[in-house]
Amino acid sequence: MKATVLYGPRDVRFEERETPKITKPTDAIIRISATCVCGSDLWPYRGLQPVNEPTPMGHEYCGIVEEVGSAVRSVKPGQFVIGSFATSDNTCPHCKAGYHSSCVNREWMLRAQAPVLRVPLADGTLVPTPGNPSDDLIPSLLATSDVLGTGWFAAIAANVKPGATVAVVGDGAVGLLGVLSARQMGAERIIVMSRHATRQKLAREFGATDIVTERGDEGVARIKDLTKGIGVDSALECVGTQEAMMQAIRCTRPGGTIGYVGVPHGVELDGEKLFYTHVHLHGGPAPVRRFLPELIDLVLNKKINPGKVFDLTLPLEQVAEGYRAMDERRAIKTLLRP
Ligand SMILES: [Zn+2]
Ligand SMILES: [Zn+2]
Repeated sequence: MKATVLYGPRDVRFEERETPKITKPTDAIIRISATCVCGSDLWPYRGLQPVNEPTPMGHEYCGIVEEVGSAVRSVKPGQFVIGSFATSDNTCPHCKAGYHSSCVNREWMLRAQAPVLRVPLADGTLVPTPGNPSDDLIPSLLATSDVLGTGWFAAIAANVKPGATVAVVGDGAVGLLGVLSARQMGAERIIVMSRHATRQKLAREFGATDIVTERGDEGVARIKDLTKGIGVDSALECVGTQEAMMQAIRCTRPGGTIGYVGVPHGVELDGEKLFYTHVHLHGGPAPVRRFLPELIDLVLNKKINPGKVFDLTLPLEQVAEGYRAMDERRAIKTLLRP
C-alpha cells in the first residue's frame, strides 16, 4: 500500500510501505474510510519539532474492521469503528477514572494517513457504530476521533456549566469544536478569539456569541470589558503557545477554570503570578475514548455537525497538498479519503 511519511520540514511523501498485519492477539486491522491532517501534525511539518527519521503520519481515523486478533471480543470484521489517537485497554485504573489517554498500556497512534491501519488493544480502543453509517456522516464521525473529542475535553476540563461565560483561545479546528462543545454543555456566552473571517463565521455557526480580534494585553482588556471587568468562568486554551496560555489565564475570573488541550510548545508559568490568579488549571492529551460513545450518539442523531470543520477534502494520495493548505491557512482542516 501507499502511505504518508514525513521526512523533514515541508517534506511529506506518499510512498510504498508494508501493509500492516496483526502482530498481537489484541490487534485489529481496519480499512480506513476517512482520515485527516491534525493541527499537531503541523508542528513537525513546520520544523518546530524535530523529525529525526522518516515518520509515518496520522492519528485520526475511522473505518471498517477487516480482521481481528484471536483475543479480540467486542469488535468484529465488517463493523464501522472509530478510535482515538491514544490506545487504551479500558480496564486499568486510569481508564476506569476516565483518563484513557494515560492508560498504563497506552500507545500513541501513528500511520493513520494510510488506506489500512493496525490498531492495538482493539477491544478497549475502538468503538463500533450501530450499523454502517451513511457517507454524509463520515466527516462528523471522523471528527469525534480527535478534534471534537479534544474540544469536548477542553470544555469538560474548563468545567463549562449551563449559563456559563466561556472564552475560547484558538480558532483552529479544536477551538471551533470547543465552541460547539461549550454550546452543547449549555454555556450562555461564548467569546472566541479569532482574526480570520471564515473561522469567525464557523465559530458563530457553532454557537459563539462574541468575537475578539485583539491579542495580548488588548485581548485580555477586551474580554474584561465584555464581562463587566470580571473575567470568564471557563477558558478553553486550544493552541499551546505561551501567549495563548497567558491569554486564557488572564481572562479567567478568580475561581474560574482553564481547560488546556493545545500541546504546549515552550509554555512556562510563573508560580507566583499563578498563585495570585486563583484559577484552576486542568488539561492534557484528551481522553477521547471516554467521550466517544456519547459523541458518536450525538452525531448519529444529528444533534451536532462537527464535520463542518473539514473545509477541504482530498484523495489520500494528495496528502502533501492537504498539509500545505493547512500550513498556509487556506484550509482549517483537511479530510483525506483513500
Ligand atoms: Zn490530532
Ligand atoms: Zn487503561
